[in-house]
Amino acid sequence: MVDQLRRTKILATLGPASDRPGVTEALIAAGVNVVRLNFSHGNAEQHAQRISQVRNAAKRLGHEVGVLGDLQGPKIRIESFAGDKVEIKAGQRFTLDCSEQPATGDASRVGCSYRGLPGDVRAGDTLLLDDGLVAMRVEEIANDQIHCTVLTDGALSNRKGLNRLGGGLSLGALTDKDRADIELAASLGCDFLAVSFCRSAADIEEARRLARDAGSQAGLVAKIERAEAIANLGEIIDASDAVMVARGDLGVEIGDAELPGLQKKIIREALERNRVVITATQMLQSMVDNPIPTRAEVLDVANAVIDGTDAVMLSAESAAGQYPVKAVEAMVRVCLGAERQFDHDTDFEAARRDLTRADEAIAMAAMFLTEHISVRAIVAMTESGGTARQLSRFRALAPIYGLSRHPEARRRMALMRDVFPIDFDSRGLAPRKAAREAVKHLFQLGLLSVGDRVVITSGDHMEEQGSTNTLRLLKVGEGGMAEGLGEL
Ligand code: PGA
Ligand code: MN
Repeated sequence: MVDQLRRTKILATLGPASDRPGVTEALIAAGVNVVRLNFSHGNAEQHAQRISQVRNAAKRLGHEVGVLGDLQGPKIRIESFAGDKVEIKAGQRFTLDCSEQPATGDASRVGCSYRGLPGDVRAGDTLLLDDGLVAMRVEEIANDQIHCTVLTDGALSNRKGLNRLGGGLSLGALTDKDRADIELAASLGCDFLAVSFCRSAADIEEARRLARDAGSQAGLVAKIERAEAIANLGEIIDASDAVMVARGDLGVEIGDAELPGLQKKIIREALERNRVVITATQMLQSMVDNPIPTRAEVLDVANAVIDGTDAVMLSAESAAGQYPVKAVEAMVRVCLGAERQFDHDTDFEAARRDLTRADEAIAMAAMFLTEHISVRAIVAMTESGGTARQLSRFRALAPIYGLSRHPEARRRMALMRDVFPIDFDSRGLAPRKAAREAVKHLFQLGLLSVGDRVVITSGDHMEEQGSTNTLRLLKVGEGGMAEGLGEL
């Protein structure tokens, strides 16, 4: 098969592994569409450095690469160890020290920065560290010290996360550090801002307001990783531009057995509500240490694609693993394979009849045409990427080319499944002429051939957001000149 277009997008977390010379560029060359800066680690200088590497590499390669800034949120973390890492054994005692100035950790104790933790837990609770890799039972709480019994053999390293099985720890969503990091994200020009441990639409609205006040137009990503977020799922999705199935923390709060069902539910609801959805965490975990994924991981990535996710995410695999580029290559391979299994057919009988927006109606009509006559591509002439998002919710067979002169809009579209952002400036052209120039441009890029049919969506005023009101059906003629169609 020659050059199958990859529809599913890949998000890769940056970190020490990607800082090695040449790796950032190799990740982007291998197919990363959006990078994640994890504000839980690193400082402002490191983040700025990483962004500039990404922007430079993207420019050299001619790729549109978005940047997502991921707020730490009220994640409870242990402090550090004297030797950075300790081994612990099932059955041993281990103490979490939540005092103001805990001693440096060793194999029997470590500090924890959330001073309210002793008040939030009870004897008998299960605490899960490092996304559940290490479990402990709370035995006794004595002032600032939580004395536990370790339940699993394992290793602990600096600043790993801590959750209580069942959720319910009482921290709010945005910490002082998050507020400062929102300003940082704005000054760095992040395209997306992820809100960790959000509980409600109000948390997302607050983050959006802070971002706008700081001058950022970033898209808001709600990370679904708390029991409360599942209870308020609909309103959170509506308040966001995208959601993340944050399986690491979600799995420890809700129990891993609930994850498969929740992943499908979150993806389904996000698509129904016209939002983008990312599936994240441990997708290719074994590739932190190994050059090839396990069969189970291959199936996991493929199943997320089949569930309908827009994007799949790498965390430690690309940020701290030994094989960051191979991990991206494996994801590309597996996504392409899964997409070949994807036999899409929109059920227009079941489609919503209560559309409220013109661009939604145009998107629906474009899909109807695309699925009823053979169409090579859908072209969205878009200011903000909004129409491309509407179109991409249908998971159509034809690719969607999102044409915009705004780099911010193109980077936003980098996260949307089936959407391929293209730089195109239609200023000064009447809508009819702009559509024809767009076809010619795509022909010249080798994306269309003579005889192809194309559906184009656009607005009367190309400068205006949300003004999409026109659908055109054109055929590509000699030299890329667009022609109208009579007979189908
Ligand atoms: P994290 O979020 O990697 O920032 O913890 C994702 C998750 O919890 O799955
Ligand atoms: Mn998380």
